[in-house]
Amino acid sequence: MFHYLDNAATTQTRPEAAQAAVTAMTEEWGNPSSRYAFGQEASGRLKEHRAQVAAGLGCRPEEVYFLSCGTEGDNWAIAAAVEKNRRKGKHIITTAIEHAAVLEPIRELERQGYEVTWLQPDQQGIITAEQVEAALRPDTILVAMMLVNNELGTVLPVAETARAIRAARCPALLHCDAVQGFLKVPFTPEGLGVDTLAVSGHKVHAPKGIGALYIRRGLRLPPLIRGGGQEEGLRSGTEPTAQTAAFAAAVEAGRASLERDLAHMRELKDYAARTLREQVPELELIGAGTAPHILPVTLPGYKSEVVLRFLSDRGIYVSSGSACHKGKPSHVYAALKLPKPQLDGILRISFSYDTAREDVDALVQGLKEAQAQLFTSLS
Ligand code: PLP
Repeated sequence: MFHYLDNAATTQTRPEAAQAAVTAMTEEWGNPSSRYAFGQEASGRLKEHRAQVAAGLGCRPEEVYFLSCGTEGDNWAIAAAVEKNRRKGKHIITTAIEHAAVLEPIRELERQGYEVTWLQPDQQGIITAEQVEAALRPDTILVAMMLVNNELGTVLPVAETARAIRAARCPALLHCDAVQGFLKVPFTPEGLGVDTLAVSGHKVHAPKGIGALYIRRGLRLPPLIRGGGQEEGLRSGTEPTAQTAAFAAAVEAGRASLERDLAHMRELKDYAARTLREQVPELELIGAGTAPHILPVTLPGYKSEVVLRFLSDRGIYVSSGSACHKGKPSHVYAALKLPKPQLDGILRISFSYDTAREDVDALVQGLKEAQAQLFTSLS
């Protein structure tokens, strides 16, 4: 019995992606930098992988830089923007609900003397472009805003933020962490108006260890890793062609069934929200997230870590927040300023194309049992 409802943490590698990696490792394993035919075959494949990921993003292949994960893309984009704009100011704007991959590098910049405006969400998790507009200054050099929040499923106003930056004529570069938005909400980097945008393979059914950073054409950023000159000299290191093959195959397969998969996730999310509220009476929904794959709920008075373990013992896997928090209270839910019993009881349920109604039914049953058997701090 295995009911996986934690697809915002990671997704199962899809067969097409696994097969593409095996082919790259067993048949097309040349070094793309080698000048002879076998190496050039690998180089040709890599070119195809880049084009496939670019097609999924809706950008040009030369705007896609492969790297190891979403975290690496976020760290690079932030460091590069600050370095590029170092003579133009020391003010950064970001949101209080970014992933640690954005929060931590910006906290480090704050420690180094940069001034950071942290935009706070309302109780529904909403951040508005007006908040950005009010915070923009002539010395703002970076705005970092995620597309979809990983714990709430809220969609942030990235396109409106880009317009506000342009209207204010400040030098800020706009970085978007789209790790949870890729193949979940429709966008193109150009449509959003961002300068850089990070995505990650393992959230879209590719293996862990591969991601990409979109860098807008014409924007010259300092390199992340210096060495042999791969990735246009910006991120050296022999390209992980098995990973890029798998990423490309996952994106291609995801694009092919995108409408159907999104409809499936939306339907499951509605079904879960409805049945959980009907059958687990004290359960409340959290936030105003509209992304199709993320549903945060709370069982007020129950400790989410205890409920998580109770469910886990029954083969039902959900999260008590971001998988990166390792038991610490989530800064995202804390930013909503919910009463403590609500805050303590939050669980994040997240779906994918391969989640079934039976998984939701098992969760509903598991939570009913948890309510009947576990103690609550409210009783
Ligand atoms: N950004 C967001 C919104 C995420 O949800 C995650 C992963 O949970 C990351 C960044 C980090 O991505 P990766 O695990 O590929 O480093």
